[in-house]
Amino acid sequence: MPSPLTPRQILERLVAFPTVSRDSNLALVDWVEEFLEGAGITAHRVWNEERTKAALYAHVGPEVDGAVVLSGHTDVVPVEGQDWSSDPWTLTERDGRLYGRGTCDMKGFDALALAALALAQETGVKRPLQIALSFDEEVGCLGAPAMIDEMARCLPKGRAVIVGEPSRMQVVTGHKGGGGLICHVQGHEVHSSIMHRGVNAIMSAARLIDWANRRNAQSAAARPSEVAALFDPPWTTVHVGTIRGGTAGNITARDCRFDMGFRAVPGETVEEWVATFEAEARALEAEMKAIHPEAQIRIARLFGYPPLRPESEGAAEALARRLSGDNGTHVVSYGTEAGQFQAAGYSAVVCGPGDIAQAHQPDEYLEVAQFEEGWAFLQRLVADLAR
Ligand SMILES: [Zn+2]
Repeated sequence: MPSPLTPRQILERLVAFPTVSRDSNLALVDWVEEFLEGAGITAHRVWNEERTKAALYAHVGPEVDGAVVLSGHTDVVPVEGQDWSSDPWTLTERDGRLYGRGTCDMKGFDALALAALALAQETGVKRPLQIALSFDEEVGCLGAPAMIDEMARCLPKGRAVIVGEPSRMQVVTGHKGGGGLICHVQGHEVHSSIMHRGVNAIMSAARLIDWANRRNAQSAAARPSEVAALFDPPWTTVHVGTIRGGTAGNITARDCRFDMGFRAVPGETVEEWVATFEAEARALEAEMKAIHPEAQIRIARLFGYPPLRPESEGAAEALARRLSGDNGTHVVSYGTEAGQFQAAGYSAVVCGPGDIAQAHQPDEYLEVAQFEEGWAFLQRLVADLAR
């Protein structure tokens, strides 16, 4: 049975599901399952705890090791507060561009991967092809680990993973690891005229935030390692994106909450950085408690994902280079699920259509030419697996 839909038609359907990370992706997963079933392919779901979302994976070809895994995520970032020229949930072509939320990041690749799976099933392959579609990628790569774990246990072992995040079809062999914290500094409220008897949560938080400033400056001044030197910037960054605290100008603030994000170069781990930060916070907390015992600093972990280390003689890199013809050296500072696959023992690279500059933007688009280049890449892959 030939694939009933073109990649473009599949993309149209995927974009129409508003799979913002905070919402369920099950309508999309139902549709994908049906599509694969129609192509004669059995898909498997990996649920989240509340069973409101699911990841999906499938295997095509002989039950042998050595599969190529096509990895994508089903969730997208919100559109609220963004000025769109057309409905973000309707795929719209203008000037050689396919507009719609997720076209670039990364339903374009998802559509191509689904079409490639159907093609592989239809034409027959000697070596297997697998698909892995996750959820909750945009909120810190939360959905993939359980899926990767189950794939590694239940399917013949995959050899090479291609994560199709937008890279303009360049072969990206490394990315930074990431982690996020939410910090709640709790002080002690007094009139600001006697502030020495209170603990001002905002001013304490400022000291922790200044720790980040100091560490960034130190890192920027230090000599980068060989692998770190590939990145822009070539060091681990610590970033605070939001802060909230205080009630009035003349009250020492009782509460201050801020987030802290880490992007660690390969060779350093987010865990080490978080541990150093926590030690700093505990020392400050002791000072605060000496003034008032109810003062405290609470730190909660929001997410964390490992870096992608460039592999020497990596199977995924060799394959993607052969199929794309790209021999340049590329690393990126954003996170992907490639590091998670690599941590689970797979060889992995990032290679997908579109430009990261268009991701998360109002009027997000994928160039038709990029979409076609991605399709040509995956058709070559299927032909390769059939040989
Ligand atoms: Zn993405």
